[in-house]
Amino acid sequence: MSRKDDRREKALQDLQEYHVLMLNGHFDFGNGYHGKVYLNPHQLFRYPSTIWRFAQDLLDVLPASILDATDVVAGPVTGGALLAHTMAGLLDSRRDIAGPPTLFAPFTADANSGHGLSRFYQQQVKGKKVLLVDDVRNTGQTLERCAALVKEAGGTVIATAQIYDRMEAVVHLDAPNIALAEYKAPENYPVAQCPLCQSGQPISTF
Ligand SMILES: [Zn+2]
Repeated sequence: MSRKDDRREKALQDLQEYHVLMLNGHFDFGNGYHGKVYLNPHQLFRYPSTIWRFAQDLLDVLPASILDATDVVAGPVTGGALLAHTMAGLLDSRRDIAGPPTLFAPFTADANSGHGLSRFYQQQVKGKKVLLVDDVRNTGQTLERCAALVKEAGGTVIATAQIYDRMEAVVHLDAPNIALAEYKAPENYPVAQCPLCQSGQPISTF
């Protein structure tokens, strides 16, 4: 096993240890469905030290060619932006101090279009190479929207990255995608057909 595979395996364990990812439970999602797996990205940010740790790990699995080329780390509010801000800072601690500092850009939440990029940050991104990050990749549509905003602003997305990939992406960008940890949760069950209920397993708390 390579060092990077090692790091990924450890990250999946760490996500469980920090209660970001809960496997083998019996969760009531409150929408008529039960399932074994629960993901709570808020646990990544409750203690800043947690996101610092996972941001370090994500930097460790990103190819050096991408890290070297990155001018801006950008991510959508809230989780992606907090991660991007942390990664931009940590990236500088790994680089030649004589170089220009890494920039950060947040995508705001927009009620109509999903996400937006303010005029100030459009200027920051213009002509720059952008590493686009998020805490979790679901369908990939958020990253797709953010990548379009970078392009509109005159920047180039060189890669996308996330701490946790649910392996359910329906859109894939041209740029490479790197996940620290990936795990595909099994299907959830309508309550009336839940085998966990039928086996008498108590509902898990989270
Ligand atoms: Zn159940």
